Amino acid sequence: RRAALAAGRHLPSETTDGHRMVLRANVATADDARAALTVHAEGVGLLRTELPFLDAAAWPTREAHVATVTPVLRALEGRPAVVRTLDFADDKLPPFLAAASPSGHLGRGLPLMLAAPEAFADQFRGLLTAARATGAELRIMIPMVASPEELAACRALLDLAAAEVGVEAPPLGVMVELREAVDAVDELARDAAFLSIGSNDLTCQLLGVDRRDPAATPALAAHPSVLTAIGEVAAAGRRHGRPVSVCGDAAAHPLLVPLLVGLGVDVLSAAPAALDAVRARVRGLRYTDCVALAAEARELDSVERVWRLVEERV
Ligand code: PEP
Ligand code: MG
Repeated sequence: RRAALAAGRHLPSETTDGHRMVLRANVATADDARAALTVHAEGVGLLRTELPFLDAAAWPTREAHVATVTPVLRALEGRPAVVRTLDFADDKLPPFLAAASPSGHLGRGLPLMLAAPEAFADQFRGLLTAARATGAELRIMIPMVASPEELAACRALLDLAAAEVGVEAPPLGVMVELREAVDAVDELARDAAFLSIGSNDLTCQLLGVDRRDPAATPALAAHPSVLTAIGEVAAAGRRHGRPVSVCGDAAAHPLLVPLLVGLGVDVLSAAPAALDAVRARVRGLRYTDCVALAAEARELDSVERVWRLVEERV
């Protein structure tokens, strides 16, 4: 079955009625980036930059950012790279931040970064420097955005860093993974170059489930409340001409792929090991059916009913 899936790698990721989905890869290392090219990903949809620094004793320097991101960008050979800024949070806390918070509760990553603007600027400087050296098509993505004001604060830091490095600021996008971001999605879509739905956090947020709870599975994103939120994000993206992606694990789940296609998501970003199966799933769908399926699923009253509906239909 794996071999059969791999044989379809070179085929377009489009539905039987010709609706194309862009497939990108979630990566953390240069090896992951090479694996992404092997499975014909159209670049990287999520580079998780915090992962090399989970044992850090202090904020990473500009040089440390250059050193970690350069091999990943180089491995992509000019394909687009959506690089997410540091997303330290309660479940991903390096010792120096854990020490600063004896309760072990730091909360969300972005306020933490905005409270350390020099450290944040160092990451922007490092990313821009690495992109210039490798010729990468860099796009920068901010996690845990709650408001247009936060995005504006990030943009101000990025613009300063770009002027210092002597380059144009790259496209700046936001992750939609907080309820506040869904509520402000029209303004965020107006101000950002692209939107990417972090379905892992968004699902937990909307359903009141702890991220570390074993019940927090990718399939839970099929809950009607989550589907409604994803549909609102996709609609805002369309209104403002911004591409909308899903980079949480829902993008690789067979029950979610038809729903995400039908809700109007443009890009699915998943682990390289999952992409052959995602492409095969997309190629087995009819877009018009997915649109009808998603509309119906949003009106149901439980996630179990949505699962059953998808199983019956596709
Ligand atoms: C998400 O929340 O869905 C996401 C992609 O980010 P992470 O899993 O790194 O929190
Ligand atoms: Mg997240």
